[in-house]
Amino acid sequence: MTYVVNEACIGTKDLSCIDVCPVDCIYEIDEMVVIDPGECIDCSLCEPVCPVDAITPAEGVPADQRDFIAINAAWPDGREEVNRLLAEWRA
Ligand code: SF4
Repeated sequence: MTYVVNEACIGTKDLSCIDVCPVDCIYEIDEMVVIDPGECIDCSLCEPVCPVDAITPAEGVPADQRDFIAINAAWPDGREEVNRLLAEWRA
């Protein structure tokens, strides 16, 4: 399992999650933050500190936000790949 940041982060990017993550697996890109699923230890500490409820466990991602599972998971492939998937999601 992993935690996933969804669309609600865009336009807010509060960054409180980065402060509480014990393994530093939340990364800031231009519009939002993303969680590297290979590094996340599922501690859940980030979920309650998000002021816009943008973080959920992967199995709890709302149906209309499922694209964000892949958007977060693209982090190991590089920032450009995350941005590319975000642009694709918008199209
Ligand atoms: Fe970091 Fe824990 Fe959130 Fe995973 S669940 S991103 S390890 S704070």
